[in-house]
Amino acid sequence: MSRYDSLEILFKELQHLSYVVIGYKVVDNVLRLTKLDSFKELARDVEDVQNPGKYSLIPGSFYRHGPDSPKRYLYPPEHLLFTVSPEWKVELPITPKDYIAFFGIKPCDLASIKVLDRILLNVDDYYTTLRKRLVVIVENCTQPGNTCFCATMGTGPRAMNGFDIAFTRLGNKLVIEAGSEFGLKLLNLLELEPVDDTTYRDFESTIRRATDKAKAGFELENLPELLELNIESKVYKEITERCLGCTNCNMVCPTCFCFDVLDIPELNGSAKRVRVWDGCLNFVYAQVAGGHFRPDLWARYRHFILHKFTYWIKQFGTYGCVGCGRCITWCPTGIDIRESIRKVLRGSVV
Ligand code: SF4
Ligand code: SF4
Repeated sequence: MSRYDSLEILFKELQHLSYVVIGYKVVDNVLRLTKLDSFKELARDVEDVQNPGKYSLIPGSFYRHGPDSPKRYLYPPEHLLFTVSPEWKVELPITPKDYIAFFGIKPCDLASIKVLDRILLNVDDYYTTLRKRLVVIVENCTQPGNTCFCATMGTGPRAMNGFDIAFTRLGNKLVIEAGSEFGLKLLNLLELEPVDDTTYRDFESTIRRATDKAKAGFELENLPELLELNIESKVYKEITERCLGCTNCNMVCPTCFCFDVLDIPELNGSAKRVRVWDGCLNFVYAQVAGGHFRPDLWARYRHFILHKFTYWIKQFGTYGCVGCGRCITWCPTGIDIRESIRKVLRGSVV
């Protein structure tokens, strides 16, 4: 049985159990995280090349991700809160019915779900409903990309917990492990053999190499304190000379959860209230009735970094960054959050 046969069996079983299977598919030359109707749609024989401000697909054997993350499904970009009829009758949206299974997401994206849990679980009804019945099949990352730094953030390249199944492709072999009772039941459908010593050594050395590659060039030790001590660093102003304030970084970030609320009137006299993604780089984000509390772009970019690496720990007990690198790749001017942090630390007052 080939490694793809085993994955196809798992995929079909999830569909048989009525899960909406969501995985990476090539759409318009980009890997999009999308509902897959068949295993054939799952991206294959393709590699994403990611660099600051650049993304392309080439033929290859391993890919990481595209602009979408699990956030798109668990905390959608536009979410209906309620509708009001012309007769002023308020209707709440129905509870989501779907059972979602993410298939082949990478460890950084699994980690992003754990970060979102700290903020949204048992707080946001939509998120909580989908999350409590979520299935995650994660693929360990054997080839981190040029913008990845999961090893620094402690979120990859190997998923350690929080998944139902984790698999690793090693040449023609598939190393597969269950992380939950449900995952174990799924694995019983496959004809598996225990991993032999040679394969295990190969697995370990592959993960070690991947770990060495997925580093940011800074360490987490004392990072929150150092960033806070250097809050007046000139680096933020220098870097944001290139920043457009476009909020791409916020939108693609798998953990950014800020939102705005819009009331949208319809021509028939009804109206709806929707929650839409917003981000701290957006000028109007900090515009309030009494004025603007963060009018300078450099201060908004500084806030993005300090929130992820300093304030988040105080608020939620975890970093707000999982090292996926999306904000680097999808920044139109190639601003690199790793480089920003390294520069602040180099000019450190401590
Ligand atoms: S801040 Fe950037 S690297 Fe970190 S999780 Fe968000 S998008 Fe990924
Ligand atoms: S994506 Fe880049 S240019 Fe756009 S707001 Fe973020 S840092 Fe600035």
